Amino acid sequence: MTSAQILGDQYQEATAAGATALDAADPLASYGDRFITPDGEKVIYLDGNSLGRPPAASADRINDFVRAQWGTRLIRGWTDGWMDLPQIIGDRLGSVMLGAAAGQVTVGDSTTVMLYKLIRAAVDAHPERREILIDTDNFPTDRFIVEGIAAERGLTVRWIQPDPTAGVTVDQVVEAVTGNTALVVLSHVSYRSGYLADMEAITRAAHDVGALILWDLCHSVGVIPTQLDAWGVDLAVGCTYKYLNGGPGSPAFGYVRSEHQSRLPQPIWGWLGREDPFEMEQGYQVATGIRGFISGTPSILGMLAMQDTIDMIDEVGITAVRAKSVQLTEYAVMLVNEWLVPRGVEIASPLDPERRGGHITINHDSYRAALDTLWDRNVIPDFRTPNGLRLGLSPLSTSFADVYAGVDAIHEVTRAAG
Ligand SMILES: *Cc1c(COP(=O)(O)O)cnc(C)c1O
Repeated sequence: MTSAQILGDQYQEATAAGATALDAADPLASYGDRFITPDGEKVIYLDGNSLGRPPAASADRINDFVRAQWGTRLIRGWTDGWMDLPQIIGDRLGSVMLGAAAGQVTVGDSTTVMLYKLIRAAVDAHPERREILIDTDNFPTDRFIVEGIAAERGLTVRWIQPDPTAGVTVDQVVEAVTGNTALVVLSHVSYRSGYLADMEAITRAAHDVGALILWDLCHSVGVIPTQLDAWGVDLAVGCTYKYLNGGPGSPAFGYVRSEHQSRLPQPIWGWLGREDPFEMEQGYQVATGIRGFISGTPSILGMLAMQDTIDMIDEVGITAVRAKSVQLTEYAVMLVNEWLVPRGVEIASPLDPERRGGHITINHDSYRAALDTLWDRNVIPDFRTPNGLRLGLSPLSTSFADVYAGVDAIHEVTRAAG
């Protein structure tokens, strides 16, 4: 598809009027008003994929929770419904955006801890297979958890080295998986380049040699639809404070395909993952179903805000969110091509929208130093080593005018750097 096809009749050259026209034609434009923005100052926020903005509804939900539930119901809240919240929200994530039938997703722990639990469970289910396959460009926590588990279990880590401006391809996986691979661990969208991996084909390649696969959805959940059940995915983990706007440190979610739930032994045996936890019995007896993947007391406060974004995505449909996301990144690429590429900036992200997630990274030697200048001017992209500015465009809260103003400010600092 060409930029003109993606951006539609509103496609214009790089002018402020062009951004206004794109916003006027955007069916999700009004959702920008549903987020809390700083009082009295305009902030161009291009990092909603690292920490999403708070939905206005979340302020009310949290206030109401403190007063009416925690403050009033006190300990009775646990039996009023808090205890079921990890599964209730998990099921909603499954039906609204993950393509997962009920009973396979739970919310809890940090992403790091959830990765540990599911990766350890997967390799322990296949002790005869001695390798874990992962890529060198995966997020640090994913790599470290895999290295730690390999050390703990005497396994070998096999590394795929992807093109850093792209990501792991189907061919690379086909070449690297063997009958000795216990588990493949990959990110659906690369945190740096924004490359969108072919989840369906890569999952098939892993299964062709009998390996399991775990997908990290941190940078895709809430912006790109998946079909975890239909694509045969074994395990998945994701963040809720990025595109799901759950707030700083909101808990992760984990997907365990139902057929695996009784065969994969998760390693953190806590009282709430036991069958009949309130009997306080001797000995760990894992609960059936996805509840067996819970360890301790769920962070109910941390699960409040994400529900408002799940509601919004449910309202508009994840397909509409993805459509706007493709338009936002395509528009950003167009502006970068027009203004920055002639100044020596490199687009370190896929140009093909089919292989691109919700953010792009642009490289220039001046960008490490430029970040402070931009932040001081209330233009907030992220920085990724060695020299990349990462522009995360969260479809519900980012306008085309934001993209225009953000790339315009980056143009200015790039020019000033010479
Ligand atoms: C953001 C992110 C994480 C974060 O893990 P935490 O435990 O929440 O700090 C992990 N993996 C990927 C791929 C991420 O993008």
